[in-house]
Amino acid sequence: MRAKEQGQDGQRILVTGGAGFLGSHLCERLVGQGHAVTCIDNFFTGSRANIAHLLDHPRFTLIEHDVTEPIDLEVDAIYNLACPASPPHYQHDPVHTTKTSVLGALHLLELARRRAARIFQASTSEVYGDPQQHPQSETYWGHVNPIGRRSCYDEGKRCAESLFMDYHRQWGVDVRIVRIFNTYGPRMHPEDGRVVSNFIVQALRGEPITVYGDGSQTRSFCYVDDLIEGFVRFMAVEDAFPGPVNLGNPGEFTIAQLAEQVIALTNSASPIVHKPLPADDPTQRRPDIQLARDKLGWQPAVQLREGLLRTIAHFEQQLTVPLA
Ligand code: NAD
Ligand code: UDP
Repeated sequence: MRAKEQGQDGQRILVTGGAGFLGSHLCERLVGQGHAVTCIDNFFTGSRANIAHLLDHPRFTLIEHDVTEPIDLEVDAIYNLACPASPPHYQHDPVHTTKTSVLGALHLLELARRRAARIFQASTSEVYGDPQQHPQSETYWGHVNPIGRRSCYDEGKRCAESLFMDYHRQWGVDVRIVRIFNTYGPRMHPEDGRVVSNFIVQALRGEPITVYGDGSQTRSFCYVDDLIEGFVRFMAVEDAFPGPVNLGNPGEFTIAQLAEQVIALTNSASPIVHKPLPADDPTQRRPDIQLARDKLGWQPAVQLREGLLRTIAHFEQQLTVPLA
């Protein structure tokens, strides 16, 4: 199969999960850079609306396909993002989640090997589990429950990393693994279930803000534009450095602080309610991004307040709900 048209100096780039939150921003960025982009998605959590503005572009092709099945395409580079990322979604059909990570990685690595294409893996801070090292650096091996509700995602992504490294060592495939820490921004689905979108949507609708547990657990939140910049830089580096590289914003906040900030920025009257903490919910998470600074000259530029304001503006428009 061929992409519609190759950009003049551009590459033919495959983005799996390209109709999702991160994938749609990545496709937009790559098309904007002059590449011919093929987006593969099964629309489990992604949507046509996310890529509606790209569908008629001569250098954008959409293929509805599930990465658990093999695919053959003429490509120069691959970004593998296909996988539900929100806990309620990846736990909905956990066996399919594991298949997506593991079989998806296998099929795409085979494609990369056949086509001599550079291949990027969207791994996750979840490989560190409920971390006993803080902040988390790439040398930390993690603390993951291998049989819990999150393990379909955590172990699936760990196995995918293992496959990426083995294809690199065994067949010299040019792999690039990033471990993404919680990232948010426009085009998260209002029902996605992750904390930033949940809190903003609840605040805008005047519904109770659902803090799980006592809200003392921490996360570090990266704005989507910063993350995509890190992706593109890593794929452009010419010395074959496989990673893994942490990408995230080292600013660390408790979930209670996030709730307060969202309420303040939306001027919402929503009360905070506490719900049970999900099993194996990590108690703390913050990336050590020294490696990304050294290797990619990358660090996030958008701080939480600014990123939240941009995301709130997006949801206000999407929900067409006036501020409370
Ligand atoms: P998302 O759910 O919005 O996007 C995932 C996309 O993959 C969706 O479009 C979905 O339909 C598609 N997909 C799922 N299973 C598929 C399959 N079997 N075949 C084809 N397509 C499939 O989530 P996101 O936040 O955009 O995450 C994108 C990637 O980044 C995922 O691999 C996720 O694990 C990783 N990641 C994201 C974050 C984050 O904070 N956003 C953090 C860590 C890792
Ligand atoms: N969380 C919460 N309320 C929500 C959704 C999530 O308090 O409505 C908490 C969740 O328990 C976790 C943190 O926010 O401690 C981040 O959750 P998310 O699902 O966004 O990502 P992950 O747990 O995968 O980091």
